[in-house]
Amino acid sequence: MKCYLCGLEVRATEEAHGGELIECADCGIYRISGLVLKELENKNIDFAIMRDGLHRQRQVDSTDVAEINTETVIWV
Ligand SMILES: [Zn+2]
Repeated sequence: MKCYLCGLEVRATEEAHGGELIECADCGIYRISGLVLKELENKNIDFAIMRDGLHRQRQVDSTDVAEINTETVIWV
């Protein structure tokens, strides 16, 4: 299993509604929704900007787990 953002080997845990919890040594822990995973077949996430977004989410929400869903995803 590879990270959707950086391509490193990661641990992925399946979640409800087709989502996955990704634990990446580089990008941190993030949850990616099933809808976004489906759209990834046709689109690419803007890696650098998305990582900044995840970082900001963790600060604002005081959590280790950031969310990539249809509201937070940043496409190229
Ligand atoms: Zn990564």
